[in-house]
Amino acid sequence: MTLMEDSVGVGDLVLLEPLEEEPLLKNLQLRYENKEIYTYIGNVLISMNPYQQLPIYGPEFIAKYRDYTFYELKPHIYALANVAYQSLRDRDRDQCILITGESGAGKTGEVPGLGRLCSHCWNHPLISFRARPGLAPPQKFLPTFSDSEGYGAGMTGVKESGGDPCEGFSCTEASKLVMSYVAAVCGKGEQVNSVKEQLLQSNPVLEAFGNAKTIRNNNSSRFGKYMDIEFDFKGSPLGGVITNYLLEKSRVVKQLEGERNFHIFYQLLAGADAHLLEALKLERDTSHYAYLNQKVSRVDGMDDASNFKSVQNAMTVIGFSEVEIQQVLEVTALVLKLGNVELADESQANGTSASGIRDGRGVQEIGEMIGLNSEELEKALCSRTMKTAKEEVVTTLNFTQAQYARDALAKNIYSRLFNWIVNRINESIKVGSGEKKKVMGVLDIYGFEILKDNSFEQFVINYCNEKLQQVFIEMTLKEEQEEYKREGIPWTKVDYFDNGIICNLIEHNQQGILAMLDEECLRPGVVSDSTFLAKLNQVFSKHGFYESKVTQNAQRQYDHTMGLSCFRICHYAGKVTYNVNGFIDKNNDLLFRDLSQAMWKAQHPLLQSLFPEGVPTQTSLKRPPTAGAQFKSSVAILMKNLYSKNPNYIRCIKPNEHQQRGQFSSELVAVQTRYLGLLENVRVRRAGYAYRQRYGPFLERYRLLGRSTWPRWNGGDREGVEKVLGELSLSSEELAFGKTKIFIRSPKTLFYLEEKRRLR
Ligand code: ATP
Ligand code: MG
Repeated sequence: MTLMEDSVGVGDLVLLEPLEEEPLLKNLQLRYENKEIYTYIGNVLISMNPYQQLPIYGPEFIAKYRDYTFYELKPHIYALANVAYQSLRDRDRDQCILITGESGAGKTGEVPGLGRLCSHCWNHPLISFRARPGLAPPQKFLPTFSDSEGYGAGMTGVKESGGDPCEGFSCTEASKLVMSYVAAVCGKGEQVNSVKEQLLQSNPVLEAFGNAKTIRNNNSSRFGKYMDIEFDFKGSPLGGVITNYLLEKSRVVKQLEGERNFHIFYQLLAGADAHLLEALKLERDTSHYAYLNQKVSRVDGMDDASNFKSVQNAMTVIGFSEVEIQQVLEVTALVLKLGNVELADESQANGTSASGIRDGRGVQEIGEMIGLNSEELEKALCSRTMKTAKEEVVTTLNFTQAQYARDALAKNIYSRLFNWIVNRINESIKVGSGEKKKVMGVLDIYGFEILKDNSFEQFVINYCNEKLQQVFIEMTLKEEQEEYKREGIPWTKVDYFDNGIICNLIEHNQQGILAMLDEECLRPGVVSDSTFLAKLNQVFSKHGFYESKVTQNAQRQYDHTMGLSCFRICHYAGKVTYNVNGFIDKNNDLLFRDLSQAMWKAQHPLLQSLFPEGVPTQTSLKRPPTAGAQFKSSVAILMKNLYSKNPNYIRCIKPNEHQQRGQFSSELVAVQTRYLGLLENVRVRRAGYAYRQRYGPFLERYRLLGRSTWPRWNGGDREGVEKVLGELSLSSEELAFGKTKIFIRSPKTLFYLEEKRRLR
């Protein structure tokens, strides 16, 4: 069936009549109810989370989409992946695929820990890339294959044990779908297979350490991820680079009701064999650990124990040595144990405020595990050394400060471990710098967040989304208009909102909120969240996109409903009120030097390497960049990277709040379509031309429809195209001849051409 024959609503919103919000929602709903989860706006793909396995993935579909061009088949993520991959391979244009949407919208994918294919996909001749030389499969839970199954000499590997096509495995949805599509269509051979395998296996590892059950999504990514996949000139993968953004490390020590800590903790406890558990001195029962939410230890449909095996296997495939895996697990166990270090308030006993360790055994055990004298650890947890120019002063921490120090240490260890894992994966998949590469970037990053209480985390996440919206505006809307200008095609300008002013409000080097926060963090004297807010209120009192209780909004009114400790930003996607409590602390992200020095002193090689600043000889007191500054600079690098590539958009939408199949909440979808600016996107697309192509390739494809151009044509490309389209008597309204490209106004005309071609 072609897009044109698509009977359920319109497959491309460019065809929508009338172009308003209500019909747009109705169209998405109709399609969703008929299990049509994909819809285009030109080359932008909208994807609705079906919350059920649809029979639209797997090798047959991959093969089909590989052989057709974009508009010939129904909208599908494979079609988008195909366009991106082909233009990378054949036209030498680096690509990026930007996947955005709310938590639970379908950006990342399925069951955690499973970067593998179901037996159906597995057995398909197109997808034989699981094979890998010399890999010892985990016998217990997966059957193996061998040479005799035709995967080549010396190959062993693992296979799924059955099940329906693609059911429950990561050959479904957005970022993994793109990766598995590309993996299936790009080159073959032992070397290539091994690279693909490593790239795919990075998913279960990162998900184990970076995903968690939240109220909104049982497998929510708690970090942003950008992955560059690098190809050689033939389009075979060489390797890649992963960048991670802002892991939600507060989760390590505390989770909201109904949520869990990161998956790996539960996986480790459930999946480690008795020997490993004993070696790590861990108890199997999650209730033993203070950092694990006692009320939810399991997630429906998620098998922590078998996922643990997959993670171990994936790490091996990527190239982690046995020792490295062991050390990673030791550090993971260390975090759990730190949570169990009970502190005591010793204030009354000696008249001053002080803290101590309630039961020395825990600290003793940790000390033994990481090779650190337990007294030293105790001292680092309960006191703080201040250096002045002349002397060192040791002060004891009070109970609250000591708890804070312990939790800060746990969060720091875990987030540094996560960064280390990403770097370690990158080491394995890195491509030599001398090689000429083509690059496909895949961005899977948290969508815009408006929660009941918004804090520093939402502030930076929304800043990132504001920047991504800017990329979208610049690259899709502006580029669209500029292309017409370049090609000399007259058209009426469509107005769109440029959010540069909001980005500036946040990121301006001196007068931006982030810069002012840094200034406050570094300023000597008494600083607090409220001195920071007072400054913002003063500087932005007249800013059109900033509001607070004491500043007037655009209508010159005060907002009495807002809390005194809040400010509000009018983001492109809506107004968000942020509470400044904790901004200074979170931005500072300081770890007492005593703790980093203690970690550096530990005889545990991995742990030690995570705290390079703990070297006692380090004299420079230069402080590390703040959390906000780091985030800003990594966003800037990301933007530069994205601007250098050709963008492809996947806009993921969550149909309901309950993770339920078949339910469509118009209100919820309406909010998301507004965030994503879908109507505006359609408007620009429709004001112009839905399709454009350079004369050469266009003529090549449709030459057979013209009497004068078939079977032979000796003239120029543009003249050839004019001849073909002229002979078909297409309305001149429908066409525009640019300097280098032919433009077609409506997709219907293109479908007509495709249909004629098919009937020839
Ligand atoms: P977060 O921002 O919290 O990480 P997300 O957008 O990455 O959210 P996913 O984890 O990709 O959301 O999707 C949530 C769940 O929805 C998946 O675990 C899966 O059960 C289901 N899902 C998403 N896309 C599909 C699909 N194409 N087919 C079937 N199920 C899907
Ligand atoms: Mg995700």
